[in-house]
Amino acid sequence: MKKVIASVLTAVLALGLAGCSSSATPTNTGSSGGDSKAKVIGVAMPTQSLQRWNQDGDNMKKQLEAKGYKVDLQYANNDVNTQTQQVENMITKGSKVLVIASIDGSAMSDVLKKAADSGVKVIAYDRLIMKSPNVDYYATFDNFKVGVTQGKYIEDKLGLKDGKGPFNIELFGGSPDDNNATFFFNGAMSILQPYIDNGKLVVVSGQKEFTKIAIQGWDSAKAQARMDNLITGNYASGKKLDVVLSPNDSLAIGIIASLKNAGYGTGDKPYPIITGQDCDKPNVLAMINGQQSMSIFKDTRTLAVKVVEMVDAVLQGKEAAVNDTKTYNNGSKVVPSFLCDPVYADKNNYKQILIDSGYYKESDLK
Ligand code: BGC
Repeated sequence: MKKVIASVLTAVLALGLAGCSSSATPTNTGSSGGDSKAKVIGVAMPTQSLQRWNQDGDNMKKQLEAKGYKVDLQYANNDVNTQTQQVENMITKGSKVLVIASIDGSAMSDVLKKAADSGVKVIAYDRLIMKSPNVDYYATFDNFKVGVTQGKYIEDKLGLKDGKGPFNIELFGGSPDDNNATFFFNGAMSILQPYIDNGKLVVVSGQKEFTKIAIQGWDSAKAQARMDNLITGNYASGKKLDVVLSPNDSLAIGIIASLKNAGYGTGDKPYPIITGQDCDKPNVLAMINGQQSMSIFKDTRTLAVKVVEMVDAVLQGKEAAVNDTKTYNNGSKVVPSFLCDPVYADKNNYKQILIDSGYYKESDLK
């Protein structure tokens, strides 16, 4: 029996992974019937202030509409109450499935109870929705692997495996209300911690705990302010800063601004290695200009393909393809998940990763 389950799991996994790496163009399968009867899918996104979520929203809308669904797409300006109200309206107005990228992962239990009572299915998009049994599926990128990839980039660029060092590093974490943030941090630390322990990486400020380094709301200005303080408190004497672990691009923007104000980016004071995530356009430009070293690329087109498959499946009363049934415990249940694969882009490979794949045009990056 165990063997049968294992091979079924392997098959599902293989199917799923293949689906994830494809950038299939959706076709109208007519799954939702005629236009007037088209089923409505509610898509709740956190904010329009970051490029990635605009792209996520656009891709979801395009791909769902290509399948014949109607789409109620809302952005909540990073405000939890606004998002809750938007989701409530979606339920009242008859959405059959909700796709939610939550702002505060733990603040949706009540509204999701309403969804469940009305027979509405819920897919957590990119960020896990916490403390609720009423989350049917979760589709995301492998969040731990995002951190591991950032950590490995640092390890590689500094030659840590070859015993080089010591190097000075400062650590940043994402928003504490976003379940992804600890996954990113733990992934990165799984690579970096041994070098901190053996003294090859030195956190000069001593600030290593997630609670000390986390930036509420993924806010660039807050990251800039923290970097200002780190410089004044620890590097004013001319001590060299070699690396900044930044979990994403919005934080990297603030960190770069702070370093620039402090005179980094000139001949004898080059920018440290700075990591990021999302490949937002300003950050790709910063990579080209030598301010940011790398950014994780999460192809939002691929994530949308997976989520649309999930929507189709739940509306047909079928099980959606998943490739992880262990990792994402939301405090109420383990949510069946589909994890897409993140890769990194830097100055050397961004053309291949971002332009050849059609994600950006060369002219977008001027
Ligand atoms: C996403 C990241 C994004 C961050 C800030 C996280 O939940 O996974 O891609 O950079 O939120 O919006």
